[in-house]
Amino acid sequence: MSGGKATVLLEHHLKVLRLPTMLREYAPVAAACTTDKADYATYLLRLTERELLDRERRAAERRLKTAKLPVVKTLDTFEFAAQPSINEALVRELMSGEYLNRKENVLIMGNSGTGKTHLATALAFAACAQGRKVRFWTVTQLVRQLLESREERSLQRLLTRFDRHHLLVLDELGYVPFTRAGAELLFEVVSRAYERQSLLVTTNLPFEQWTEVLGSERLTGALLDRLTHRVHILEANGESYRLKEAKKRGKRSGKPPKSGDQA
Ligand code: ADP
Ligand code: MG
Repeated sequence: MSGGKATVLLEHHLKVLRLPTMLREYAPVAAACTTDKADYATYLLRLTERELLDRERRAAERRLKTAKLPVVKTLDTFEFAAQPSINEALVRELMSGEYLNRKENVLIMGNSGTGKTHLATALAFAACAQGRKVRFWTVTQLVRQLLESREERSLQRLLTRFDRHHLLVLDELGYVPFTRAGAELLFEVVSRAYERQSLLVTTNLPFEQWTEVLGSERLTGALLDRLTHRVHILEANGESYRLKEAKKRGKRSGKPPKSGDQA
């Protein structure tokens, strides 16, 4: 076979086999292997290694994209000293992702601005990097989506899609009260996840107030029962980080912080 024809066929085969990195790299790696006097097996090894690495990187990028994190925040930028009530040892242990193997939940409780979403995002990002399927929702978004899907008769399909995730993040429970139908659908998600997936919930509500948001005492009891059966609780009861930063800035500039910074 002529060299030209072989190249055309090889490139076709690599495309059909979906080996884009080998397609891109087979010629330069061949040149390098000639220089190194590497044998055929080493050539193939080098090519397949590159394909594998690229494939892992692409999968990680896809996982991060489908996780839909609102922002990417990591633990590097979290100042534990600014929020001493947070159990740092527990946060670091959770970063290892072991809780996901055990299908345990995480509950982050605290006032507004105390870093709940920051920590939730950092944990979600770590889980993605460890090869887990993650999906981040604000509770309001999620309930809206559930209600819409039910209306369009695609609720089961949506719920089945959720089953595939290792970790569902439900951010900001408690900011908006639910309708009865909304609360029931949220319960459905929590109940399906029970012992099959991990949930990470952030909330500004102490347990006593969950009934006010969920509406029914019976439903709240059942939801809390499932959510807290195997749960790691992180509590932040310090001052809002945003407010503290604003105060610092205010001190420097001599201006008081805007009241909006407290939200
Ligand atoms: P919450 O979700 O509890 O309302 P956020 O996580 O949204 O609070 O935090 C508000 C802002 O302050 C974010 O930009 C976050 O990154 C930052 N922040 C909060 N706590 C800390 C902290 N301890 N160290 C560094 N940044 C923090
Ligand atoms: Mg938040």
